[in-house]
Amino acid sequence: MEYRQLGATELQVSTIGFGAAPLGDVYGKVDVAETTAAVHEAIDSGITLFDVSPYYGLTLAESRLGEALVGYRDKVVLATKCGRYGASEFDFSAASVTKSCEDSLQRLKTDRLDILQAHDVEFGDADQVVNETIPALRRLQEQGKVRVIGITGLSLKNLAAIARRAHVDCMITYCRYNLMISDMDDVLLPVAEERGIGVINASPLHMGVLTEDGVPEWHPSSLEIRAVGRQVVELCKARGVSAPLVALRYCLDHSYVSSTLVGMASRELVRANLKALEFSIDPELLVEIQRLVAPVHNQIWDSGLAENRG
Ligand code: NAD
Repeated sequence: MEYRQLGATELQVSTIGFGAAPLGDVYGKVDVAETTAAVHEAIDSGITLFDVSPYYGLTLAESRLGEALVGYRDKVVLATKCGRYGASEFDFSAASVTKSCEDSLQRLKTDRLDILQAHDVEFGDADQVVNETIPALRRLQEQGKVRVIGITGLSLKNLAAIARRAHVDCMITYCRYNLMISDMDDVLLPVAEERGIGVINASPLHMGVLTEDGVPEWHPSSLEIRAVGRQVVELCKARGVSAPLVALRYCLDHSYVSSTLVGMASRELVRANLKALEFSIDPELLVEIQRLVAPVHNQIWDSGLAENRG
């Protein structure tokens, strides 16, 4: 496993991070014994970063991860979120994020979170996030309940604008840097590099677009994006490699990103994704993929309040 420092923080994280959203049955019902075994195998293989949220499975993912981490807590960098509690339920008030932190500590069976981030901040009022949410997260840090704090979201412009107005340690964005899209580099990287903010890149498989099984029902992408994703999967298959392997490796090659979060709920997927560490992409295949993706490259769906999109 390789490890990188998370921006200017003291945290070192594995370059492959364990995305625990699937533990909340977000991509279909999981076998809990199997997900627990997957968590343990990931840790034994050197994966340290585990990312979850109260939103995933409406607390189910946190509870399952908390159970799985009993006896393993000190081996991981544990990241969760606050402020998003349902598909349309958001509360970025100081009271809500403070209570959410306490609830997460209980579900995760620990007395300290390594990373706490305001979740999908484009759904909140930017002034509130800057003036109320982030200061509340800093107070939790001062109290020793959290080591580093940050913000997450799909809207790059909104994340960048908040990061210019308030001091955050790290940010997660998703579906903004992978084989289908690369606008994270133009919009988010400048502010991250300038301020030493750690960047965690989520959804290297574009939340299922780049997998054989395809996307879940709730996936917000256009039919065109899905069709191109399917072509990429078929092309990789014809070249004798799996699209997820190529897609994850592509993200791992980013020079600034500290960790790439991939959703995993079985030992089989943990093993498959670990193979990316020793894999390199055939440059000719990459050119072919980029040619296929060109018509939809950098296309993204809307998320959040109208004034925060982009
Ligand atoms: P992803 O791109 O990682 O895709 C996950 C899907 O791909 C799942 O269905 C999984 O079973 C499948 N998969 C994983 N590895 C595979 C392989 N080798 N072969 C075939 N299929 C494979 O999307 P994601 O899970 O949504 O994102 C990763 C993690 O990032 C999440 O679990 C979550 O922790 C985090 N995340 C955070 C935010 C946010 O903060 N706003 C948003 C999205 C994701």
